[in-house]
Amino acid sequence: MKRAFYIDYPQEHFEEQLHRYRCSYCKVETTVINGRLDGHTATCPYRLQLAKAGHQAASGQAPNNSSTLDADDFD
Ligand SMILES: [Zn+2]
Repeated sequence: MKRAFYIDYPQEHFEEQLHRYRCSYCKVETTVINGRLDGHTATCPYRLQLAKAGHQAASGQAPNNSSTLDADDFD
């Protein structure tokens, strides 16, 4: 279960910067999050909630990322 973009988290704007928004949980700016679940901090309640629901961040916990080095089985 995975969505293209995760944008339904609660947002708040930066003080004195009305055109910049951030997650009201982890305070990461929306342009940094960029619609990605792993754009939130690992402890963000929004991210944890979706992770618990079966969503996965794009990176960080993939089980098959150990063969990027020493991989000579191309071709
Ligand atoms: Zn967040």
